[in-house]
Amino acid sequence: MSVQVLAAEMAEVELKDVPSKELTPESPLTTKADDKGIVESEPKAVVPSATTPTMEPIVKTGDPSPGFLTPNTKMPQASAMKRTDPQQNGGEAFVNRDGTVAEAPRLKKIQFADQKQEFNKRPTKIGRRSLSRSISQSSTDSYGSAASYTDSSDDETSPRDKQQKNSKGNGDFCIKNIKQADFGRREIEIAEQEMPALMALRKRAQGEKPLAGAKVVGCTHITAQTAVLMETLSALGAQCRWAACNIYSTQNEVAAALAEGGFSVFAWKGESEDDFWWCIDRCVNLEGWQPNMILDDGGDLTHWIYKKYPNMFKKIKGIVEESVTGVHRLYQLSKAGKLCVPAMNVNDSVTKQKFDNLYCCRESILDGLKRTTDVMFGGKQVVVCGYGEVGKGCCAALKAMGSIVYVTEIDPICALQACMDGFRLVKLNEVIRQVDIVITCTGNKNVVVREYLDRMKNGCIVCNMGHSNTEIDVASLRTPELTWERVRSQVDHVIWPDGKRIVLLAEGRLLNLSCSTVPTFVLSITATTQALALIELYNAPEGRYKQDVYLLPKKMDEYVASLHLPTFDAHLTELSDEQAKYLGLNKNGPFKPNYYR
Ligand code: NAD
Repeated sequence: MSVQVLAAEMAEVELKDVPSKELTPESPLTTKADDKGIVESEPKAVVPSATTPTMEPIVKTGDPSPGFLTPNTKMPQASAMKRTDPQQNGGEAFVNRDGTVAEAPRLKKIQFADQKQEFNKRPTKIGRRSLSRSISQSSTDSYGSAASYTDSSDDETSPRDKQQKNSKGNGDFCIKNIKQADFGRREIEIAEQEMPALMALRKRAQGEKPLAGAKVVGCTHITAQTAVLMETLSALGAQCRWAACNIYSTQNEVAAALAEGGFSVFAWKGESEDDFWWCIDRCVNLEGWQPNMILDDGGDLTHWIYKKYPNMFKKIKGIVEESVTGVHRLYQLSKAGKLCVPAMNVNDSVTKQKFDNLYCCRESILDGLKRTTDVMFGGKQVVVCGYGEVGKGCCAALKAMGSIVYVTEIDPICALQACMDGFRLVKLNEVIRQVDIVITCTGNKNVVVREYLDRMKNGCIVCNMGHSNTEIDVASLRTPELTWERVRSQVDHVIWPDGKRIVLLAEGRLLNLSCSTVPTFVLSITATTQALALIELYNAPEGRYKQDVYLLPKKMDEYVASLHLPTFDAHLTELSDEQAKYLGLNKNGPFKPNYYR
């Protein structure tokens, strides 16, 4: 079985004979605008011909576990993404705390680093780094990692100054402390339990190597979940070199386990800006090794290669980008006619958006509030600003805990949804004096301004789950008459002259990314999507993808979801022939149009 066939198989959810519709790379394209202003090209159905490979199922009816790959299948083609307005992107890409996590201002003009060719001879000490705006916002957003204990190390020596070798004598890595490898391995094994799809991909490959010959250079959060992804890519045949996309998010013990396992990892928690670029450079600037695939989160790696090693793009087959920031950068390159390889936009995959925004926030809002304040939720009055995906998740969680939840909205449709879900729709000024907790989830700026902060009651908790740190006007609280008291990590009391205090969390940055963790299962979805995007781009025949930004086809989203269903012993209903005909659907999917969210 060829690697291309294997990749194609991975994108097929159900096994069935070829239905009346089939996608081919040659299909003519129609365009549709989605709800975020993105115009997606949707392949038209064509009748399969003798040269059109048929699709075989890989999930067998009644068998919740993934089946085996079979040949003769065709990979659905991704659709080219054209943003009519790059600022209309509603989702964020986080990490995935893993990773991932981090987001950048939606409206902010993207700035690239004024990279230095020469790195500092003397490394900057942790704690004395000064971060300029020259690395992306997502590279510096604080990112919590519950499992990581590694920043407490007393060893102030920069990893760049240390001679490092793993137990096999390999020294092609730079991390904090190789001695933490055993602990990191346990973290990775724990993450594997919650990443069933990647583990299934490893099993399905069964010796096949759809990424054989792939040289993947990655720049993502280096956490246990990323390690599971890297080890999956390696099991599928890829060579990987990795740097961190965020100077705070590396789990040092995980980096140690990866280095011990032979991966070339260049990352540690608390890098300086100079370290950050140095690590990226070490990943790509190696004699005798050139990447042919990029997996990026935030666009810094891609940008570095563009700036410093543009010739590398001759060999690079594609870029897979995870974050909204990075996608904006790719869009800009594409618009300027400077994108020289195809790129996959993972950020806008429907599975990612749903899981990151709705389900992840539904869980992590409570976690973030509890860890920072120990607040009891029952009976508390909470106002949630914005009833999009994030707001819906927050409201659902708080309602379930017995809180009295108010919602503010500007969009009548989301407002009506809030009403139908049983929430009181109010203006912020109507409830600001009485609420115990204020949560912003709008993606907007200055939603909670000083006037509202002045009117809040004593002890009111104020936090943000939305766009970086723009939603709460924190700067307006930095005035001489107000006193700031840091009472815990990420918790400030801001005290008015009359003694009233409000509890400000994470200085208005994203609460869950700053103060809690992101569920591994959510990261599993993103990581699986990344892996499939890499497989697809790497194996795509010449000409399938042009120098443009592509969205993953709905069918691949459906496949990612299907790989996670066995965890729940979920039994998916299969369309009958009659039903499929009635609905005009292919029995193997896609079951929804590309614009469906
Ligand atoms: P969304 O567009 O679906 O929802 C935002 C809602 O806020 C919209 O319905 C909009 O009408 C409303 N809104 C805008 N301005 C408002 C205002 N002044 N007052 C009241 N409502 C207003 O977006 P989403 O997917 O819910 O994401 C919201 C924000 O959260 C984005 O910035 C996104 O990047 C971020 N995000 C955070 C996380 C996280 O883990 N914390 C995860 C995903 C996304």
